[in-house]
Amino acid sequence: MTGIYVHIPFCLQKCNYCDFCSYPSMLSRAYTYCDALVRETESYCDKKISADTIYFGGGTPSILNCAQLEKVLNAIIGNFDISPNAEITIEANPGTVTKEKAKDFKTIGFNRVSLGAQSFCDKELSLLGRIHTADDTKNCYELLRNAGFENISLDLMYAIPGQNMLSLSSSASQLLNLAPEHISCYGLKIEEGTPFEQMLERGEITEKGDDEYADMYAFICNTLKEAGYSQYELSNFAKKGFESRHNIKYWLGDDYVGLGAAAASKLGSNRFTHCADIEDYMKNFKNDESYELSNEDAMSEFMFLSLRLTQAGASKEEFEKRFGISIEKVFPKAIRKHTSNGMLLDEGDRYILAPKAYYISNYVLSDFV
Ligand code: SF4
Repeated sequence: MTGIYVHIPFCLQKCNYCDFCSYPSMLSRAYTYCDALVRETESYCDKKISADTIYFGGGTPSILNCAQLEKVLNAIIGNFDISPNAEITIEANPGTVTKEKAKDFKTIGFNRVSLGAQSFCDKELSLLGRIHTADDTKNCYELLRNAGFENISLDLMYAIPGQNMLSLSSSASQLLNLAPEHISCYGLKIEEGTPFEQMLERGEITEKGDDEYADMYAFICNTLKEAGYSQYELSNFAKKGFESRHNIKYWLGDDYVGLGAAAASKLGSNRFTHCADIEDYMKNFKNDESYELSNEDAMSEFMFLSLRLTQAGASKEEFEKRFGISIEKVFPKAIRKHTSNGMLLDEGDRYILAPKAYYISNYVLSDFV
């Protein structure tokens, strides 16, 4: 089944590390933007697409008011064939959710929240340019729990400039005290065009070296494992049964429809990405990019993405079913090299990355591209 992604490109302020499609101070355009989302949704009504996940991401979807969210969600439910047990996620940022809003999220139909905690150290949050403190995150989490959310994901960031093992460990333990069902961990990379890039050039911050980066990642993997979370994807951890059904679709190469500015879609071999400019999107859902994926690229993508799933890995049967040829015939060198150096494990019906390869996954995965 297909997944539906809805991009909400509004934020209260731009974080210093952010290179996502998100605009501060444009919230006044949110009504018009939601109308455009409804129109785009209606353009799918004849296609009879069945979907079992809906994901409102951003940006900061939680800064929309509930009438706006409800309008868009209802349009999706009305124009797609949505399964009754669909996973319906909203990304939220602490500082943008009130008690009433948390309850309304539930009433509208969201059943999962992904909360952008990032760190529980106020100094780090301030450097990141986040709008909230650690206490705001804890309060927001409590509001969501009290509203009845039984599936909450928290984001945790590592390799933040100035972060050390002590502060990472403190953030991890404060996060674990909240006992979320799901945790996404991201290593900070300083991206082009962000305020962090300028701060780096001015010598105001330093970027973590490879060793420290790998040490922090290893620390997180071990700590979350000891706390009972399963690392089902290189950067994602969950209690049993709470893996993100929506994100798994990306790694398995399933279809997805992206609605909104900068949203990407994959329908069979067709790929298209809307322009990031909100005004252009609202005029005509203009695409920046649209192409058909070649068979060769599709095979590389299958390996590159599915090997990120640490347990499911790259299924030999699924590969043959999709492409009519075996993994070994298409990638003989990469398979030979990485099974003999112990980075790739042949589990009979699938290939998976060896745990020691998690830290250097790009080294292995790039051989399939
Ligand atoms: S809240 Fe998220 S999307 Fe918005 S500016 Fe910060 S990192 Fe970017």
